[in-house]
Amino acid sequence: MKRDADVIVVGGGAAGLLAAGRAAAAGARVLLLEKNAETGRKLKISGHGRCNITNIGDIRDFPAHYPGGGKFLHAAFHHLDNAALINFFAALGVKTKVERGGRVFPVSDDAEEVVRALRRYAQTAGVLTETGRRVTRLAVATGENAARPRVFGVYVAGETAPRRSGAVIIATGGAAFPGTGSTGDGYSLGKEVGHTVRTPLPALVPLRAAAGWLAGVQGLSLRNVKAALWINGRKKQEEFGEMLFTHFGLSGPIILTLSREAARALEEGAETEVRVNLKPALTSEQAARRLDRDLRQGGAKTLKGALEQLLPKRLIPVLIDLAALSPDQKAADLRREERRRLAALLQDLPLRLTGHLGFGAAVITAGGIDLTEVHPATMASKRADGLFWAGEVLDIDGVTGGYNLQAAFSTAFLAGQAAAAAPGNLVKSG
Ligand SMILES: Cc1cc2nc3c(=O)[nH]c(=O)nc-3n(C[C@H](O)[C@H](O)[C@H](O)COP(=O)(O)OP(=O)(O)OC[C@H]3O[C@@H](n4cnc5c(N)ncnc54)[C@H](O)[C@@H]3O)c2cc1C
Repeated sequence: MKRDADVIVVGGGAAGLLAAGRAAAAGARVLLLEKNAETGRKLKISGHGRCNITNIGDIRDFPAHYPGGGKFLHAAFHHLDNAALINFFAALGVKTKVERGGRVFPVSDDAEEVVRALRRYAQTAGVLTETGRRVTRLAVATGENAARPRVFGVYVAGETAPRRSGAVIIATGGAAFPGTGSTGDGYSLGKEVGHTVRTPLPALVPLRAAAGWLAGVQGLSLRNVKAALWINGRKKQEEFGEMLFTHFGLSGPIILTLSREAARALEEGAETEVRVNLKPALTSEQAARRLDRDLRQGGAKTLKGALEQLLPKRLIPVLIDLAALSPDQKAADLRREERRRLAALLQDLPLRLTGHLGFGAAVITAGGIDLTEVHPATMASKRADGLFWAGEVLDIDGVTGGYNLQAAFSTAFLAGQAAAAAPGNLVKSG
């Protein structure tokens, strides 16, 4: 039966574009099928439209930045690390710069430049891209190895005959930001051939909290604070940095980092809290002494006035209320026990979590295709012959800072190379 391509790539996001280009550069005839009217829609909005493509940190430290899948990525990073990725884009004319936290962005601050470069890479290598093509099913036959089916192509919505190929790479992304096209289609495609899907959950997602006082502090951003995630009365994780109070709850970098574990706990119905330490540089004794000093110095002032050196203005009534004190009481009149309550809140401001903002607001999906069912050196499926995986559809999720795109690109590089060289594709890997 005539083939439509050696390699079919499903999904034209970061991973799909790079995998397609790589397979074509290795000599394969490649067909890229994207369901949107254009490729790279999520990439265009990544990094607030600036696209944080990777991180400049030591590649040996990268695995630690993935709460999900770090170990699995060793081989992928070995073949395409951050330096190689930066060079790859430089060769495509995309100059990059490094910002705070080692984040790498295009000098143009324009994510569209990155998308255009990837499209050019794929096109120049000979990839045929068809947009507006939603893959609905895998075309599967009994394999040479009776234990495993063989994937010989895909079915596209509205077409009766399958598109045939020697290998298929699934790069459909996760389930986060579904408006960009990543609606979790890859999970059902994987299940067709026996893949296990680790429950997809939103990660790097703002959290909802229940506290009447949030209305008074919405928009307030705190720097150099610590936020700890408590699950069923036990501290699970703690992060230092910047956070933001919103009308619905909490957001900002350290909250997003906590959100992966928080979302999982909330999903399981566990009691989940974030506790904020507003003065993490001080020991509890130092915090108590500092408070005593401010209260003494502000002796004649109201409590509200005496706390102005210590706290952001809008948080003062919140702490006073939670400590069951009155803002107009004289600072000097506070009893020892009242001072103790206030000092405790300075370093342990509790917020009960009630939920998260869901996939619609999540940067990444935690969960996905079980990594034990994928060869880390080739991204080949262990469940079906002729099938490869790349990008966020896998059970991989990183913290912010360029790690998620690096994982998408590195896995795509391997998948493209290996799919081009898959048995039945008469091409050598380049
Ligand atoms: C708002 C936002 C900002 C982000 N910023 C950054 C950042 O700056 N740095 C970083 O490292 N990470 C960032 N990320 C995460 C990063 O963008 C993703 O991890 C990455 O794009 C995943 O690439 P992917 O190719 O696997 O999936 P996607 O980019 O999601 O691409 C999947 C593609 O597959 C297509 N598709 C899906 N199903 C089908 C189907 N059935 N048939 C055909 N096509 C299909 C989709 O339409 C889509 O085009 C951000 C994410 C979001 C949501």
